[in-house]
Amino acid sequence: MTKTVLITGISGFIAKHCAVELLEAGYRVRGTVRDLSKAETVRATLTAYADADRLDFAEADLLADDGWGAAMQGVDGVLHLASPFPLAQPSDPDKLVRPAVEGTRRVFGAARRPSVGRLVQTSSVAAILAGHPREREAPYTEADWTIVDGPGVTAYERSKTLAEREGRAIAAEAGPSFHYSTVNPGFVLGPALDADVGASADLVLMMLRGKYPGMPRMSFPVVDVRDVAKAHRLALETSQPSGGRYLVASEPARMIDIARALRAGLGQEARKVPNRELPDFLVKIVALFDPAARSSVPKLGLHARFDNSQTREALGMDFIPLSESAPAMARSLIALGRV
Ligand code: NDP
Repeated sequence: MTKTVLITGISGFIAKHCAVELLEAGYRVRGTVRDLSKAETVRATLTAYADADRLDFAEADLLADDGWGAAMQGVDGVLHLASPFPLAQPSDPDKLVRPAVEGTRRVFGAARRPSVGRLVQTSSVAAILAGHPREREAPYTEADWTIVDGPGVTAYERSKTLAEREGRAIAAEAGPSFHYSTVNPGFVLGPALDADVGASADLVLMMLRGKYPGMPRMSFPVVDVRDVAKAHRLALETSQPSGGRYLVASEPARMIDIARALRAGLGQEARKVPNRELPDFLVKIVALFDPAARSSVPKLGLHARFDNSQTREALGMDFIPLSESAPAMARSLIALGRV
């Protein structure tokens, strides 16, 4: 029998790719949206990439109980992706922490019914890499956790860490009959399926539009969205035991590496993309006025080395390199008329 998978936040950049991945693999997909008026736009996008006859929608908000029980009717598995992902950090961390943590409780609460055997939660490297001592040299692995009270931890990093901890605690209570895992992606690049793109694309858009005079000396793991979608499907189907934590990233990249990949892949179309790094003192001056720059100051000069050989082996994955994923995102944004 065809299995039905609920994708929370199906209007999101990554979730739409997950929906295509699952529809192509023969699943039925139900997607939650905060407002059903968004459903037809999502359907129109997905129809261009997969057979959307096996797609339906349910309305539910992470901040309210309504709708989650109905959304879960007849569902065999869940991909829980919905969570706010902004580029700039809010002054009140609860704007991110509340939907992330309360939303996890609501989704897991509704999923605790006999039919739902599996749940994959979309966490992040933000739940792994942040708040550690600057002098740390060992590469980060799936065994590491963000130290939420550590130096320079952002509201977003806090939200992802606390939400994953909450998910793991509920799954542990549920016992082994409820199969749980997390996918922890790096910063996601790769093609956008439509013009409703999230914060990942905002960064590349601003680079293409020439909004940055240079790149801050920052580094983070990166990954292609097509690999993130595949990892979600593999985590849903895996014969690995419950509790898996999959660090999904191709390589650590400095922001200047992303800029260089865009210039190399796009030529003239990337002429406004910066080709130099900014001195730290300039970023600190900009940070006095710009909240997006402010949250990057504690990360200046850090190099996000990681070792995800465990994930590569457990899920049998290899990753699309930055040299393909960054230009692929840029080309899609140009084709969509966003630049
Ligand atoms: P998007 O901003 O594109 O998608 C976020 C989704 O969450 C949207 O569908 C949004 O709905 C939904 N959402 C936000 N707040 C609520 C709420 N209160 N109730 C219901 N739905 C809500 O982001 P991404 O696709 O990039 O991110 C998806 C997931 O992946 C998130 O969990 C994010 O933390 C994680 N992630 C993202 C990375 C990246 O680089 N992009 C890296 C690592 C992890 P609406 O359309 O209505 O706003």
